[in-house]
Amino acid sequence: MGLDEIRNRVAAAETAASRPAGSVTLIAVSKVQPTDRVEAVLSAGHRVFGENRVQEAEGRWTAYRAEMPDLALHLIGPLQTNKARQAMAFFDAIHSVDRPKLARTLARIADETGACPDLFVQVNTGAEPQKAGALPDAAGELVAECRTLSLPVIGLMCIPPFDDDPLPHFRMLRQLAERNGLEGLSMGMSSDFEAAIAEGATHVRVGSAIFGAREPV
Ligand SMILES: *Cc1c(COP(=O)(O)O)cnc(C)c1O
Repeated sequence: MGLDEIRNRVAAAETAASRPAGSVTLIAVSKVQPTDRVEAVLSAGHRVFGENRVQEAEGRWTAYRAEMPDLALHLIGPLQTNKARQAMAFFDAIHSVDRPKLARTLARIADETGACPDLFVQVNTGAEPQKAGALPDAAGELVAECRTLSLPVIGLMCIPPFDDDPLPHFRMLRQLAERNGLEGLSMGMSSDFEAAIAEGATHVRVGSAIFGAREPV
């Protein structure tokens, strides 16, 4: 199991960046992983997990939720407006607020229920046509719209293009966050979380380096 190693590497990256121990939240991305691997990570005391899909997350986590009050579940995949209510009721944080329509839907439901998970605005730093996220030029506007709607936006999130050096993307996200007065930075995955921590990541999303390779779906 890779959890101990990844915990140590996160701690070393915090130290190397002169950042306080524990300033980075390690999100163990459990999507598509077999139950025995997830239970091994739970047994080691880890409680923060990321999932890509609302339905899959509910199926896996509903029973654990009842026994583990300290469990924190993050939605890191795209969110359709017709799943927004379900996602808001289930997750502690949503990292994929990527368009005004979704923001307005979240705000309407938050007004109704009086509750809303922590939110990250997703930025398509590579301007990839197939990828979700606000374009860098539009990110400030989306953050402002979320604030007007009284949504609890705590940071920005990005998924750099697969073949690019991630560093310029991490830097861009950090600059956009600073410009918009946001502290949270959800960036860095199995292959690049140390670089992301050096650039200020507050939340790293690590799947295969903790659990092992995912089965293709
Ligand atoms: C799957 C996924 C991850 C984790 O990827 P690994 O390379 O396995 O660490 C992180 N972020 C998002 C948005 C993902 O979909």
